[in-house]
Amino acid sequence: MNAAIWAHPWDLVDEGAERAAERLAALGIDEVNLATTMHSVQTLNPHNPERKTFFADASEYFQPDWDRYGEITPDVNETMGDDDWLAEIAAGFEGTPVDLNSWGATFHSSRQGQRHPDATLTSPFGDSLVFGLCPSHPDVQEFGIELTGDLGDRDVFETVEMELADYQYGTGYGWHHQEFFHRLGRLGEFLFGLCFCEHCQDNARAAGVDVERARQSARAGLTDRFEGRLAHDTDVGGWLMEHPEVFAYADARRETLTELFGAFDDVLGDTDFGYYFKMGGLGDDRMGVEHSWKHGLDLSGMSQYMDEATVLAYHSDPTVVRDDVHTTRSLVDAPVRAGILAGDPIVHSRAQLREQVEAAVDAGADSLSFYGYGVVPERNLEWIGDVLATIE
Ligand SMILES: [Zn+2]
Repeated sequence: MNAAIWAHPWDLVDEGAERAAERLAALGIDEVNLATTMHSVQTLNPHNPERKTFFADASEYFQPDWDRYGEITPDVNETMGDDDWLAEIAAGFEGTPVDLNSWGATFHSSRQGQRHPDATLTSPFGDSLVFGLCPSHPDVQEFGIELTGDLGDRDVFETVEMELADYQYGTGYGWHHQEFFHRLGRLGEFLFGLCFCEHCQDNARAAGVDVERARQSARAGLTDRFEGRLAHDTDVGGWLMEHPEVFAYADARRETLTELFGAFDDVLGDTDFGYYFKMGGLGDDRMGVEHSWKHGLDLSGMSQYMDEATVLAYHSDPTVVRDDVHTTRSLVDAPVRAGILAGDPIVHSRAQLREQVEAAVDAGADSLSFYGYGVVPERNLEWIGDVLATIE
């Protein structure tokens, strides 16, 4: 079974890329999904020889071809400076049995959002949601396409994989110290992130949607949730049946996103394109891949452009892992890779990791990706090696 592992560039550079590649090959790892564009982050790096933590604002971890870009330009990571970690890592991996994929959280950048408030997702109340750029905005689309082409043109990646190049939920995936003393629930998350920027409004209007009515309904739904008139576990589908104008508004985003993904695939030429599915939420509010339509993702339509779909099946219960993989296989017409979180809070033993992997394989996963090289202890890396040694 083909197995990849996600890695942040600082861990590979600090250890020495060639040495890291040899260590990974010995564990049975075939590919590294290397972060090239990453949201703001603090990582704990248990086995990094140079540092035990790394802080960064949302950044690119390579030297871009600046001439390609328009209004929105990459943010080269300050710690990397004038170096090019991608070039350094690609040189270290050359001649080893481990291939490289690019991993990018394309539109999840609070730094870009603060610099381009007109290009962010915009709540039904008109708030700029700075953690996410809106995929309907032409400048954002141009940035995404050029960034993808820039990475493809480096000729070092088998696959350019991305996540969060879609319409994110209202709380995004966290931003600094959020003070949310209210449980939005699935409906609240969906409605608060439903973007009413001018471009999303124009697209919906062109599709024949009553935009003002949709916005009023979205605001009223959120206010009802804030004030407890709607429960946190209100069924989103049921609510949308009663508010078809909101459904039509959300549905108009599908075509925009599918076309954009077609452009990503196009600019990549012979390099493969992959996308990650993790729809967010915690505990009872967790949303699996079947909720991807809330992000504007049309899995069937996207399949013509995707060479691989990765489902981030992060759950301590292996039956949920199995369901995530199974559902993804039923929704997309592309090979499915199962993302397994090989550390806390999901996996605390070799036996647990084995259960997770076996659940994914049983459900028909075509390949695996483990999270993640520098952020789990060496002990967990050994578990990965042990489990891979016994999986066909
Ligand atoms: Zn928008």
